Amino acid sequence: MSKATELAQRDVELIWHPCSQMKDYEELPPIAIERGEGSWLYGVDGKRYLDIISSWWANLLGHCHPKINAAIKAQLDRLEHVIFANFTHEPAVKLAEGLASIVPEGLKKFHFNDNGSAAVECALKMCFQYYLQTGKGEKKYFMCLTEGYHGETIGALSVGNVDIYTEIYRPMMMKTFPIKAPDCYRCPYGQARENCDCACFQAAEEVFAAHGHETAAVIVEPLLQGSAGMRIYPPLYLKKLRRLCDAYDVKLIADEIATGFGRTGKMFACDWAQISPDVMCLSKGLTGGYMPMSATCVSQEIYDAFYADYQEGKAFLHSHTYAGNPLGCAAALAVQEVLREDNILAKAQDTALWLTAAMNETFGGHPQVGEIRHIGLVHAIELVSDRENKKPFPAAKRLGYAVYKRALTHGLLLRPLGDVLYFNPPLNTTREDLRFAIETTKQAMAEVLG
Ligand SMILES: *Cc1c(COP(=O)(O)O)cnc(C)c1O
Repeated sequence: MSKATELAQRDVELIWHPCSQMKDYEELPPIAIERGEGSWLYGVDGKRYLDIISSWWANLLGHCHPKINAAIKAQLDRLEHVIFANFTHEPAVKLAEGLASIVPEGLKKFHFNDNGSAAVECALKMCFQYYLQTGKGEKKYFMCLTEGYHGETIGALSVGNVDIYTEIYRPMMMKTFPIKAPDCYRCPYGQARENCDCACFQAAEEVFAAHGHETAAVIVEPLLQGSAGMRIYPPLYLKKLRRLCDAYDVKLIADEIATGFGRTGKMFACDWAQISPDVMCLSKGLTGGYMPMSATCVSQEIYDAFYADYQEGKAFLHSHTYAGNPLGCAAALAVQEVLREDNILAKAQDTALWLTAAMNETFGGHPQVGEIRHIGLVHAIELVSDRENKKPFPAAKRLGYAVYKRALTHGLLLRPLGDVLYFNPPLNTTREDLRFAIETTKQAMAEVLG
């Protein structure tokens, strides 16, 4: 028995994998990876895979980046972890200073945790408590967009609306006011994403008119609803939302966990709309996808509502054991340095322009490609059974999953969301690698769709 097969067998004996129907593993056993380099993963069986989804949108600058590796190793020999209440360390201080210099204006304080869902939970609790402590306790609910995704813990799940993740847990979840999200590919107003005036924003206006007075915050994934199938909407929507939030005294939480650090072509998706949220959640690319770490960035105004004599009981008593972990901070600092010194964002935008042209050329005329949408290096192909009326394939066919399995056999890690195939590669992926991804996707599609 090969080492790969043996590891896969020992794995399924004991391990329950994330976001998986474990029975599927009988047919597609887990693939044991030995090492990574750049955009490539190398299996113990000697086979290599192009990681075109950045290992769940996290890996920002390639696997085993020499500078990030060195930064973590250097930190490891100094300090691996220290309680972050009442203690601090230089990597955390420098990271906060670095973040302060790049986040949208007005975000002044940085609360560290260890994963994206925790950053979202923090954001929700902070906004709730902010209103409680400023004499507006009636503002205790949250608005969110339909099709939104903000993580898996109960609070984060409550403001999420991707049915396959949330539906079962409804009875456990808190009440929210969902706003019908923009749906640019199937725009009910017949508008085009590039030049629309966001007629769909009316849905937000209606929900604010009805519930603005009892709402603490609205949470959105700015411009890119990732888990919904890489749905992309225009910056104007965010601009309007910022104005509406101000009019109704509702805080705006930007969940930039997936979009942050250049994924959309600018440092943050909010930058496209030139708006500042009141709270911003960061994770994934923060450490280059190396370490579990997240940050909840907040305005001075929110922070000030918690600042008082201890006896007033206004502190934010929220902690996770690994908050501010020095190894995570060291990785994040190295990421900042590489982004700056290697001029990564500008180069990624050049690559993105090239990728868009290459994708349109290869897939633009395909009868089952409904839309090729893109922002930054994120490029998505929505498969449909009928291009004319944009009719999806029956979900039960699991076409995306079939394409995923075919692509794997050809050395491409493509993990579709339903029938949406997408690339979300490390920002420094080469054109050569992207060319391989395109050709392999084309081949896998042909094998499945005929
Ligand atoms: C991944 C993700 C989260 C959750 O982060 P975890 O670290 O997986 O808990 C939240 N929001 C968005 C937009 C994400 O993409």
